[in-house]
Amino acid sequence: MTTKELYTKGARVWVEHPEKVWESGKVTADYRTGVLIVQLDQSGEIRQIKIKDEKHMPPLRNPSLLIGQNDLTSLSYLHEPAVLHNLKVRFCDRNAIYTYCGIVLVAINPYYDLPIYGDETIMAYRGQSMGDLDPHIFAVSEEAYTKLERERRDQSIIVSGESGAGKTVSAKYAMRYFAAVGGNASETQVERKVLASSPIMEAIGNAKTTRNDNSSRFGKFIEIHFDNQYRISGASMRTYLLEKSRVVYQSSGERNYHIFYQLCAAAASAFMPELYLDHQDSFHYLNQGGSPYIDGVDDLKTFNETRTALSTLGVTETEQANMFTILAAILHLGNVEFLTNDPDAGPTADNEDGAYIDSSDKHVGRFCSLLGISAAELRRWLTHRRLLSAHEVIVSRLDVPRAAAARDALAKRLYGELFSWLVHAVNRALDTGHAKKHFIGVLDIYGFETFEINSFEQFCINYANEKLQQQFNSHVFKLEQDEYIKEEISWEMIEFYDNQPCIDLIEERLGVLALLDEECRVPQGSDMGFVAKLHTNCAKYPHFMKPRFGNQAFIIKHFADNVEYQAGGFLEKNRDTVSEEQLECVKSATSCRLIHTMFAEKVDQHQTATLPPPSRRRTTPSVPVSSLTQPPRRASGQKQTVGAQFRASLSALMGTLSATTPHYVRCIKPNDSKTPFLFEPARAVNQLRACGVLETIRISAAGFPSRWLYQDFFHRYRLLCLHKEIDRTNIKATCGRILAKHLKDPDKYQFGATKIFFRAGQVAYLEKVRADI
Ligand code: ATP
Ligand code: MG
Repeated sequence: MTTKELYTKGARVWVEHPEKVWESGKVTADYRTGVLIVQLDQSGEIRQIKIKDEKHMPPLRNPSLLIGQNDLTSLSYLHEPAVLHNLKVRFCDRNAIYTYCGIVLVAINPYYDLPIYGDETIMAYRGQSMGDLDPHIFAVSEEAYTKLERERRDQSIIVSGESGAGKTVSAKYAMRYFAAVGGNASETQVERKVLASSPIMEAIGNAKTTRNDNSSRFGKFIEIHFDNQYRISGASMRTYLLEKSRVVYQSSGERNYHIFYQLCAAAASAFMPELYLDHQDSFHYLNQGGSPYIDGVDDLKTFNETRTALSTLGVTETEQANMFTILAAILHLGNVEFLTNDPDAGPTADNEDGAYIDSSDKHVGRFCSLLGISAAELRRWLTHRRLLSAHEVIVSRLDVPRAAAARDALAKRLYGELFSWLVHAVNRALDTGHAKKHFIGVLDIYGFETFEINSFEQFCINYANEKLQQQFNSHVFKLEQDEYIKEEISWEMIEFYDNQPCIDLIEERLGVLALLDEECRVPQGSDMGFVAKLHTNCAKYPHFMKPRFGNQAFIIKHFADNVEYQAGGFLEKNRDTVSEEQLECVKSATSCRLIHTMFAEKVDQHQTATLPPPSRRRTTPSVPVSSLTQPPRRASGQKQTVGAQFRASLSALMGTLSATTPHYVRCIKPNDSKTPFLFEPARAVNQLRACGVLETIRISAAGFPSRWLYQDFFHRYRLLCLHKEIDRTNIKATCGRILAKHLKDPDKYQFGATKIFFRAGQVAYLEKVRADI
């Protein structure tokens, strides 16, 4: 149909609006050329819309029959305003937080406890097909579970979305579903352990941020293993990119990791007095955000839950005590102060410039006595460093900022090692020694991020999302193709956006990661030098851009948006080094055995390529411990950079995911004030763009987005033909007659084996014809 035929008087359209994003209106006069006159529904205002190019007419609205459907792809017009409107109607008017968009489950955070997660709901979804009940995270989980059984192919549930959108909550519900339907109560109660891993990981890897009181500061992929009877037989977990900077610094309104506050709360009621803990506000590493409490959270109570979970997972009392000792040691380390003058030297002494520690500083002493290390040694290496030149060893005093940075690096390293050890401990407990025949993986990883200032962390996260998006696009595309082949319809290749060129920019031999590593290796490497290299070598990539001003940043055109990265800190974050001398001090610890395990296990894990213990080798899969928090060494002894490790762990993840059937959950945060059922369209639309929902729609809209079973089509549109044209013995031919009469262009639809496939807008047109008779 031509533009003139579609935009006649009475046609219903969407007009752009600065806050509502889109508002509805009606065309008041048949479209001629150049101008469309629309009356807005809400205000009654008449708008003259200039049309420069008829390809960009205001989008048409769907017939009301289709509004509020469970699956967005059943809409006839599949465009941004239609998607947004439909989600809003479902969410605000019906409290329906879940909607399908083809193979994607869109989940909008209600910030309200809905009674839809109980065991009876689990049982209701058990055995049902995805389309039979309301969209739900349980429906997706059920689909994964039955596909695992039916197709004997591993499955994955990929949850993404921005901070506070509900990823971790969704991932937990999916795991709860599997624990319920694949439970194996008679045996090891492994499902109880799987569920107990959540509070532990949240205690050590989640923190209060301005966006989310319980924000996960790491990514995780949990594989739930099933045996031949499709009962849970074990599980394993891999983690990605723990935000270690939080251990030493928090912005205003934020907190450090929950576990520290839990421990301080416990100390206040006389738990482990030998740790010399005090109120959380007395620790520099805990008080910088000025926001020590979380509404509705009792840190002491959660501490007890954490300990129960640790015990459930077989972390012994001694190991727990060691853990708490290390955490307390980190807090004391953070309180070590550096002075610019030697406090012990007399007034006339010739003071060497640099950092000093007061001899009465009790925190150095406590750090050392907790771990059992020599205080004199540590004091020395907190304020000095050793430089190796070709001929000699020079020991020089650090200045105060460098000393503080070195101290913080040590604290981050200790925490990172502890985190890795716990991931390892969780894996140890979840590995029951049973064969893993099949698995369902659940990925809870941050979505695409763009802030005012974007740094190395955003770069890594967005790189990961670029990879996930690529896998998503090709999967959606392949499914479309498969459906067309199955239905035996002829079709041409649909163009779809492949983000490989953007990934090339990051991964190629002279791409961002390689240039960053190179700059980290050269002796005088600097963040500025890195940017200069990028500008020289990457200008040829279409996804690279130089910012208009300054030379300290670079822009990458990601699939979701253009992001400007500030290069300051990239080198340091990529190197992630810690003073070798300080590390040696810590490793000499005599009163904390866990320190040795923590640092020794790393060697085990990486040098023995995660071989399971000999007794279990035959049946146990290797435990993946590819956490980025452990800097493994290369054969050369040179430390692998954070970027290189991340790249390797992502590549392993992509390998794992591509051998599974994926299921996608996209979580949307509808507002920033955590208000129940408040939908801010501008917030939602950005996320829909960033998580690829709109891109999926584009892929399916390019082909035949609407599909009707012959029978269903006949029922709705038989009014569109004469009684004598109906042949009940041949519904397909009857549908053909109806269509030939009303859709003149045969390219607009195709007959498949069981369904009729329509191009965008055709069903809306038929609805209009139907309404007019
Ligand atoms: P981050 O990236 O910061 O880890 P996230 O996407 O994992 O964020 P969650 O921690 O899962 O976000 O959710 C944030 C909060 O939103 C939850 O603590 C809970 O209060 C609320 N929430 C999320 N999903 C739901 C839901 N389905 N029902 C009720 N409340 C929810
Ligand atoms: Mg989370």
